[in-house]
Amino acid sequence: MNNQQTSSDVTISGAGLVGSLLALALDRYGFTVTLIDQRDWFEELPQSDGRASAIAGDCWQMLNVLGLTSFLKGQKIHGMRVDEAVLDHEKTKFSLQFDDQGETSALLGIMVENHQLRKTLNQALKQSRQIKFAAKNKITSFQSLGGEVTCKLSRREDLTTRLLVSAEGKGSKLKELAGIKTQSSDYAQAGIVCTVSHEQPHEGLAYQWFLPNGPFALLPLQGTQEQPNRSSIVWSEQRDLAAAIMMVDDQEFSSQMQRRFGDVLGKLQIEGGRWSFPLSASIADSFAKDRLVLVGDSAHSIHPLAGQGLNLGVRDVATLTEVLVDARKLGLDFGSDLILANYEGARRFDSSMALGLMDGLNNLFSNSHPPARLLTSIGLPVVNRLESLKAFLVGKAGGQSSNQPKLLKGEEI
Ligand SMILES: Cc1cc2nc3c(=O)[nH]c(=O)nc-3n(C[C@H](O)[C@H](O)[C@H](O)COP(=O)(O)OP(=O)(O)OC[C@H]3O[C@@H](n4cnc5c(N)ncnc54)[C@H](O)[C@@H]3O)c2cc1C
Repeated sequence: MNNQQTSSDVTISGAGLVGSLLALALDRYGFTVTLIDQRDWFEELPQSDGRASAIAGDCWQMLNVLGLTSFLKGQKIHGMRVDEAVLDHEKTKFSLQFDDQGETSALLGIMVENHQLRKTLNQALKQSRQIKFAAKNKITSFQSLGGEVTCKLSRREDLTTRLLVSAEGKGSKLKELAGIKTQSSDYAQAGIVCTVSHEQPHEGLAYQWFLPNGPFALLPLQGTQEQPNRSSIVWSEQRDLAAAIMMVDDQEFSSQMQRRFGDVLGKLQIEGGRWSFPLSASIADSFAKDRLVLVGDSAHSIHPLAGQGLNLGVRDVATLTEVLVDARKLGLDFGSDLILANYEGARRFDSSMALGLMDGLNNLFSNSHPPARLLTSIGLPVVNRLESLKAFLVGKAGGQSSNQPKLLKGEEI
């Protein structure tokens, strides 16, 4: 990697997990790339933001092709236990169960802590010679003209590129500058995340309790020498209550977690800090316009209840990379509207489906109205008995579909 400023084939604004992954994928297939971020990811030591991601099977395959998985200490998810619950209610049976043996061979996912993913991506970016990095920078304006985009940067000279990518997350400025509108809904919930230790081993099981105020998930992490039994918590709570919960001391915090999760894994204890994220869902009206294309949360963001947000972004990367590589092989202008329409066509359905499904599940379960609770308590055991529906749900969670880009099948393009 070097810091000289020249023009490149593709300029990516946003070096989060999705933007960084796209830079690596495009670099692998011979595109010159400039990666811009308002932060300096390389100076900042990758620190935990409490989040861990359940990487779906297809996305893991892509990370493998890019040579990243050997550096990641992942915990395979062997099964999921899903149920509705209320405070102080002990769990003895589960309405909905998925296991990775017997009923389906789909990989349920691999849990990786986000700071580890960040560290691995940083190392790979540093090893690349072709990727130019513009840290502590923002694109303040851009103009698309004559097959090129000219961008003005806040702290560097102008740069030109044939394709501009927004990987700037939910509040993308580029999307705003391009006049792309977003449909969004605010859940009035916050996602509290932290790592916990517990007395009993998790055996690779992920738990999801639908409580009236929002879903509470406990996801298995790899143990350490000091603490073999560790899991990641994603606790969606009404925003006011979440703010109050964030203020209490560790002992009270752990006891509030226990009231929600019960005694399934014995005593839960918070390990390190806790973080809170406002939860909302959004989807851009268009994923591409005049040589600007959107990926990751910049294009779509969803409720974290099934841990699919990053996976959607990884699938965007796989699709966009293949579309661009194929266009270049055919000698076509890879930044043209026609080519970018192929990307949008391939990604809009999947992301809209995921958004609608998460939205529906959250709205259905996150309330205390008796008819809705009755419907969910009838619905979950029924789904549990329908093996084909479960396999479909697991297949979707594992990202299996017939028309996948090559990288998601573990193949080179
Ligand atoms: C509580 C919680 C739990 C989650 N759990 C999971 C999970 O288990 N599995 C999963 O798949 N997903 C999960 N997600 C979703 C996942 O974290 C996001 O989908 C993913 O991080 C989005 O990555 P991104 O790179 O698109 O955006 P971001 O992570 O938001 O990165 C955006 C980058 O752009 C930079 N940037 C922003 N604006 C500008 C600008 N104007 N100029 C330059 N740079 C800019 C930022 O500094 C940042 O580096 C979770 C989300 C939450 C909130």
